[in-house]
Amino acid sequence: MGTVKDYFGSMVFDDRVMKACLPGKVYASLRKTIDEGKQLDIGVANIVAEAMKEWAISKGATHFTHWFQPLTGITAEKHDSFITPAPDGGVIMEFRGKELIKGEPDASSFPSGGLRATFEARGYTAWDPTSYAFIKGKTLCIPTAFCSYGGHALDKKTPLLRSMEALNTQALRILRLFGNTTVKRVHSSVGPEQEYFLITKEMYDARPDLQFTGRTLFGAKPPKGQEMDDHYFGVIKPRVAAYMEELNEELWKLGILAKTEHNEVAPAQHELAPIYSTTNIATDHNQLTMEIMQKVAAKHGLVCLLHEKPFAGVNGSGKHNNWSIDTDEGQNLLSPGETPYENAQFLLFLCAVIKAVDDYQDLLRISVATAGNDHRLGANEAPPAVISVFLGDELQAIFDAIENDLPYKGAEKTQMKLGVDVLPKFNRDTTDRNRTSPFAFTGNKFEFRMLGSSNSIACANIMLNTAVAESLKVYADRLENVPDFETALHDMIKKTIKDHKRIIFNGNGYDDAWIKEATEVRGLLNYRTTADCMPHLMDKKNVDLLTSHGVYTYEELRSRCEIMLENYCKTIGIEANTMIEMSRTQIVPAIEAYTSDLARNAVAKRKACDGLACSYETGIIKKLSAATDSIAVKTDELQEALIKVHDANDVIEESAMLRDTVLPIMCELRVLCDEAETVTAKSYWPFPTYADILFSVK
Ligand code: ADP
Ligand code: MG
Repeated sequence: MGTVKDYFGSMVFDDRVMKACLPGKVYASLRKTIDEGKQLDIGVANIVAEAMKEWAISKGATHFTHWFQPLTGITAEKHDSFITPAPDGGVIMEFRGKELIKGEPDASSFPSGGLRATFEARGYTAWDPTSYAFIKGKTLCIPTAFCSYGGHALDKKTPLLRSMEALNTQALRILRLFGNTTVKRVHSSVGPEQEYFLITKEMYDARPDLQFTGRTLFGAKPPKGQEMDDHYFGVIKPRVAAYMEELNEELWKLGILAKTEHNEVAPAQHELAPIYSTTNIATDHNQLTMEIMQKVAAKHGLVCLLHEKPFAGVNGSGKHNNWSIDTDEGQNLLSPGETPYENAQFLLFLCAVIKAVDDYQDLLRISVATAGNDHRLGANEAPPAVISVFLGDELQAIFDAIENDLPYKGAEKTQMKLGVDVLPKFNRDTTDRNRTSPFAFTGNKFEFRMLGSSNSIACANIMLNTAVAESLKVYADRLENVPDFETALHDMIKKTIKDHKRIIFNGNGYDDAWIKEATEVRGLLNYRTTADCMPHLMDKKNVDLLTSHGVYTYEELRSRCEIMLENYCKTIGIEANTMIEMSRTQIVPAIEAYTSDLARNAVAKRKACDGLACSYETGIIKKLSAATDSIAVKTDELQEALIKVHDANDVIEESAMLRDTVLPIMCELRVLCDEAETVTAKSYWPFPTYADILFSVK
C-alpha cells in the first residue's frame, strides 16, 4: 500500500488536488469561497464539477452523492450515477456544476418535526465547500447542508455553520478591541475522543437486545469486570490490533487524522482520537469515523458498539469534545499568552466560556441528551448530569486574586492589574487529570466530557459556539467605546468571576456530596433524563439566544425539540418491546426447560434410591418457579404500562410517562431475569453471558 505519506488523503478532493487540477483563476475563486464564505458562481462550479468528476473516475468512482446529516443523527446519501446516455448508444460520464451545488433528495422519509408540509416533501441539499469532497467505496461524496424549500434547516450542519459564524462575528469584535486589525476569521476547533466497544459477531448475533437496541437489556454481572483496571492502556490483543490498523488506513485515506488508539477502562472498550480540526470538518470526520469503525469491524468478524451503555455495571462510552477558539493566523485564544495584553485577552475569552456554561447549563445538557446517554449522566459514572467547570488550582488562585482585589500569591504588587501584570505560566499537569469534571480546562482548550459515544458532535458545538458568542457579544457591547478600556476590562472580568463562580468546581465530580452542594447550595441544574431537560429547549432565554444569533429559527427549534423527544420515546418503546419478547419467548422458556429437567432428574433419582430427598433439585426448582412467576407478571405489567403511554396527549407527556412508568418496570424486570440467570445452568441460558461477550475478542 505504500507509506502513510503516500496514501494519506488519497480519497479526498483536497487543496492539493484542487491546486493541481483547477485553472489558477478557478482555484483562487474557489479558495475565496472556502476561506471567506463567498458565493460560488456557476461558471466556477461547472469547472470544479468537471475536475472533481475526472478525479473521482480516476479513483474508480461511478456514482456521486450529496452526503448530509439529517436529524436522525446518522448520515444519509442518495447515489446518482455519473452515467448519461450518449446519442451513439454508449454512455458518457457527466457531472455538472448545478449537480455539485444543489441536490434534491426525496426528503419525505427524514424527520422534520413538522417543518416540511407535504406539498414541499422534497428538500434540497447544498454543497458546503468548506468541507472537502471524498470517495467512499465507488461513490464521490459531496458534503452538503440539507434544507426544506421553506428555507428551514433539516440537518445538523446548517445550524453548526451558523453557530460558527456567530462566534466569528463576536470574537472578531473582541479582537479588534484589543487592537488586532489583521485577523480575518475566528473559528472553533474540535478534537473528539471516541470511545467504543468491540465484540465478536457471534456474540452480537446471539443477542436480540444488541441487535435491536445496541445495548444489552439483560445480563448478570460477570465474575470479572473492570475491577482490576488491567485493560486500561494494557496490551492490545492481536485481533483488535489488526482491526485498528485497517481502521487507521481507511481513515487516513479519507484525510482523517486518526492519531491515538488505546484500550479503555472496561474490558473490550477502546478509544480513538483524531488530531483536532475546524469544528465543521471535525463533525463530518467524526460521522465518517463512526461509520467506518462499524464497516471495518464487520470485515474482521467483529461488531463495533457505539451505544453509550452497552453493558450495565460496566463503564459506558462517551466522546470527549476538546474545544478551543482559533484565529486564521494560528493563535489559540484559549492559550495563555506571552505578554500582559495577551493574558488579559486570554482571561476575557476564558471568562466568556465560564459565563456561557453557567448561563446555558441547560442547553449544554440538552445538546447531549439521548435515551442512551441518560444511562451515563446521572448514573454513578463519568460525568454527572450537573454541569460545572474545572479550572485547576493556578487559574483558581488568579481568579480569587482578581475577585478580591488581592495580590496574586507571591506577587509584590498590591493588586493584579490586567493588561499590565504578567500572568504566571500555567503548569499543564495541574489541570484536571482525574477526569471527573464534565467541562474541564486542560491548558489551552476545554474538554466537554458529557457527549455520548453515538452522539453527533454537531449539537454540543452548536450550543457551545452560540453561548460563547453571546458572552462575547455582551462584553463587546459593554467595552466598545468606553473611555478607559483597561479599567472596564478589569471590571468586566471581575464581575464575571463574581457572578459565575458557582459554576466553577475543582473537586471530584462523582462525589455525592458535590451533587448535593451543586443543586442545594449553588442552585445548579440537575436534569437526569432527556425527558427532564428537552422541554427546556423552548424556554424563552434559550429561544432568544439561538434565534438572536441566527442559529435556529423558532420553528426549527420547535421541530428539534419534537424530534429529540420522539427519538427518546421510540428508543424506550423498542427497548421495552424487545424485553417483553426476550422474556416471553426465550428467558421464561429456558428457565422452564431447566426446571423441568431438574424435576425429571429428581423423580428418576427417587425412583433409583427410594426416599432420596433431592433437596438440591427441589431448592432450585422452587427458586426458579417463583422467578418465572414474577417474571411473567412483571412482563405483563411492562406491556400494560407501554399501552397506557398511548393515552399521552403530546410527546412531552409521553416521554414523562415512559420515564416514570416504563423505565422503572424495565429495571425491575431486568433484576428478576438477571437473578434467574445466576441460578440457571449456563447451557440452558438462551444468550451469551456478560463474561462471554466482554472477553470474546481474543
Ligand atoms: P489527552 O486528553 O489524552 O491528554 P490531548 O489533550 O493531547 O490528549 O488530546 C486529546 C484530543 O484533544 C485530541 O483529539 C487532540 O487533537 C485534541 N486537542 C489538542 N489540542 C487541542 C486544541 N487546542 N483544540 C481542540 N482540540 C485539541
Ligand atoms: Mg483528553
